[in-house]
Parts: sequence; structure tokens; C-alpha cells
Amino acid sequence: LVELRDVNKHFGELHVLRDINLSVTRGEVVVVIGPSGSGKSTLCRTINRLETIDSGTITLDGQPLPEEGKALARLRADVGMVFQAFNLFAHKTVLQNVTLGPIKAKGLKKSEADKAAMELLDRVGVADQAGKLPAQLSGGQQQRVAIARALAMQPKVMLFDEPTSALDPEMINEVLDVMTGLARDGMTMIVITHEMGFARRAANRVIFMDAGSIVEEATPEEFFTNAQSDRARDFLSKIL
Ligand code: ATP
Ligand code: MG
Repeated sequence: LVELRDVNKHFGELHVLRDINLSVTRGEVVVVIGPSGSGKSTLCRTINRLETIDSGTITLDGQPLPEEGKALARLRADVGMVFQAFNLFAHKTVLQNVTLGPIKAKGLKKSEADKAAMELLDRVGVADQAGKLPAQLSGGQQQRVAIARALAMQPKVMLFDEPTSALDPEMINEVLDVMTGLARDGMTMIVITHEMGFARRAANRVIFMDAGSIVEEATPEEFFTNAQSDRARDFLSKIL
């Protein structure tokens, strides 16, 4: 579904992505881990073209990523993204946060969008918060709204960039549980996280990045019990 071939990217002198080859099939859940600055966020951001690349190719569903216009807007709908900071629209209600995209980009009628949004809010467990503003919600609730907002666009793949790292410990699991449910329901997901419990539970594959390269790729069992590279073992010894 998502295919990166020989992708390279620089920020000035810095070679942030080095010959990245990655292919994610439909329904697969890939967890990306690695030290700070290794290029994880940049990798994710290239997939919905929040970052351009210098060489190589990225395809979604066999099609090269569009560069501009309507096709780019469609790509952003097809590739849902949830960030560390909840970045909901602060002056819109929870319900409006979820319906805005479908009404604007997909041309849904308000009544249809509201109905679909309420179903999604129910699925992530915050339907009772629909009329509130984001600031009136806990971090975990806001992050679940962010997930519902991305899902409302009916994405082909969901990218998560450290979705729980800004949350208080007691809220982490409520977000991870929603993500685990999505994974079980067959959503294709690329997840940057240091939550190794989630990786063990939900990932089909773990990718370890260091200094812009994919150093290791394995099933969670293989990776956590028998990492091959020194760099991965060293990293695991620090976070486990
Ligand atoms: P973290 O775990 O801290 O989130 P990361 O693996 O997600 O790290 P990236 O955010 O992808 O790492 O950054 C990779 C490298 O590229 C870092 O050295 C970072 O400073 C640099 N970088 C990221 N974005 C930019 C930018 N817009 N301009 C210049 N350098 C950047
Ligand atoms: Mg990052």
C-alpha cells in the first residue's frame, strides 16, 4: 500500500534519510523506533508530503505522491496523521473538529457528517464530550478526538508520531487501547512510539532507525528478544 524506494532527504548538510526502502502492505501495523534525531518523524512526514524528498520514490496504492492541488489534498485525507501535540482547532467544538474535514474536503452534508462523526467519537470513547471545546478535555481525550478526526476522512493509512509521549501516564493506555482496536480492525498503521507494550501487542513489524537509516527490521518477538545490531541492542537496553 505504501512503498518507499531508495528515498533520500537532506536538511542542508544533514543527511536525514539515507536510502530508505520500506513497504507497508494493507492492514499491516509497523512500529518505528530509534534514538532522537534518527529521522523517524521526517520519514513519516514524507509519506503525506509534509516533507519533500531529494531522491527516490514514494507510492501510495501504486501511485506516486501528488505534488500539489486537489490531488495533494486528497493525499492528506488518504494519509491520516496524529501528532504528539494534539493540535485540534481550539475554537471549534469536538464535534466540529471531526466534521470540518468531511464537510469541506468531501462535500458531506452537515447532518451526514455529524452522524458519522458521532459514531467515530463513540468508537474512541468520547461521544459524551462532543459539544465541548478541546481545552475542556483531558490530553488523552483530545488525542482520541484527533484520531477520530483523522478517521473521519476515511484514510487508507494512519501515521502516528509519538501520540502518547505528551500524555500523563494514566492517559497513555486509553489512547493505546484505541490504537490497538484500530489495528485489530485492519487499519494500515505506521506508528512512531517508544511504547514497547503496544509494539508487542499490535505490531506486525518493528523498524529500528539510526542516523537516517533503517538499521533493523523484524517481528516484535525477534526484535525484543534477539536484536541483531549493536545499535538496536544498545537502544533497547536504555528504554526497556
Ligand atoms: P525524535 O525522536 O526526537 O522525535 P526523530 O527521529 O523524529 O527524533 P526527526 O525529527 O526526523 O528525528 O529529525 C531528524 C534530524 O533532522 C534531526 O537532526 C533534526 O534536527 C533534523 N531536522 C528535522 N526537521 C528539520 C527541519 N525542518 N530543518 C532542519 N533540520 C531538521
Ligand atoms: Mg520525532
